[in-house]
Amino acid sequence: MQYVSTRGSAPALDFEGVTLAGLASDGGLYVPAEWPRFSEAEIRALRGLPYWQVAVTVMRPFIGDALTEAQLAAICRQVYGEAFAHAAVVPLVQLDERNWLLELFHGPTLAFKDIALQLLGRLFETFLERRDERLTIVGATSGDTGSAAIHAVAGGKRTEIFMLHPKGRVSDVQRRQMTTVLSPNVQNLAIEGSFDDAQAHVKRMFTDPDVAGVLNLGAVNSINWARLMAQVVYYFTSALQLGAPDRPVAYAVPTGNFGDVFAGYVAAKMGLPIERLIVATNVNDILHRALSRGDYSAGGVTPTITPSMDIQVSSNFERLLFDAGGRDGAALAEQMLAFEASKAMQLTNAQAEGASRLFASHAVNPIETARAVQAAYQASQEIIDPHTAVGLGAAHALAGAIDPAVPIVTLATAHPAKFPDAVERAIGLRPALPARVGDLFGREESYVELAGDYAVTRDHVLAHAAASGPR
Ligand SMILES: *Cc1c(COP(=O)(O)O)cnc(C)c1O
Repeated sequence: MQYVSTRGSAPALDFEGVTLAGLASDGGLYVPAEWPRFSEAEIRALRGLPYWQVAVTVMRPFIGDALTEAQLAAICRQVYGEAFAHAAVVPLVQLDERNWLLELFHGPTLAFKDIALQLLGRLFETFLERRDERLTIVGATSGDTGSAAIHAVAGGKRTEIFMLHPKGRVSDVQRRQMTTVLSPNVQNLAIEGSFDDAQAHVKRMFTDPDVAGVLNLGAVNSINWARLMAQVVYYFTSALQLGAPDRPVAYAVPTGNFGDVFAGYVAAKMGLPIERLIVATNVNDILHRALSRGDYSAGGVTPTITPSMDIQVSSNFERLLFDAGGRDGAALAEQMLAFEASKAMQLTNAQAEGASRLFASHAVNPIETARAVQAAYQASQEIIDPHTAVGLGAAHALAGAIDPAVPIVTLATAHPAKFPDAVERAIGLRPALPARVGDLFGREESYVELAGDYAVTRDHVLAHAAASGPR
């Protein structure tokens, strides 16, 4: 399988290439040159298989020759057999006659990002071993990505990770999930300033010859194609459980960077009968405005009780604009450069029409979010996290516009104990951390505090990186 850039001019790469590259050299994102397609019979044949086996079949066409069938099977078996605390990996829980929750939070850091990052950690080690290279991962996090990435690469032989977080601006649970991983290849940096400041340091390191010329830099944010690919799998396992391919299913997806919901679009392209993908945003609603009115314009970020969705510009939306708009890389490059300059653009007719076939959208404010947490508890005795509640709130708001025979699955993206304050304010109960992470508050922490200027961060990374050598 070859991958092409959404901006048309970067070289095509194979799966190994896009996994290690992250962003394309023309500033675009990599997408498969064509969508693999499964027949109904091929989808039906996946019924009843364990998660890891469905993962092998669904991901196989995207990986091509980069791994043998046996290598891929061994990796999936290990990742999905060991790292998750539920035998189903992603159990489906029924809320009422029509609504279901797909619990994606049974991994080591209690959010859905583990499902892809655990796999990505293994892919990195496999490909780097083969090339006899080392990779220095630098990333910035506002909470969930950092801990999932750290848990995925801790103890790795060929990777090391520097994770920047804004000092004092992530929750105690989130910070401890990063800083209590005491592994020689993990370094946590608490940076003075906001998430955007930390993110700016990371971006600058990738283009700073003093860093990029010395270290082989890698990225773990959701622009990495391998992450999206891993997320396609749970659309298949859940739809199969609800009767696919003989019955269509709708999904409501709490969305920030448009990664998780784009994986649903890929599943539909592959032949899974998805009736609708409901894009659920909080009051940072650029995606809702884009999908309902064609207006893609960024304002300031408003902090909410769903911090993992407090995002201004959704990087992965570019993948949809490319595919739905007719795959014209040169035209999209022009459109995106204009957007980067003015922070506003209008979708083309082709983009808007292409998107409207599958997507619907809804924005949920903090009061409605808290009400959705209450409603799930009162009606079904389920304690849900606020991000999941945004998805469920949108599912309820749009249910009337979807054929009543179609079940609606809301993706439960985080364990409620990850956001205990918001849950307690909504229902008066404080969710307990699961036993497997229960001693989080008793463990030793390790992190370095740094002043907010770029040069300090850069010099620290250069001084502490185990020389990985330029690519
Ligand atoms: C990252 C995250 C999201 C948003 O996912 P995207 O793929 O960025 O749309 C939603 N909920 C939680 C809990 C998250 O950690």
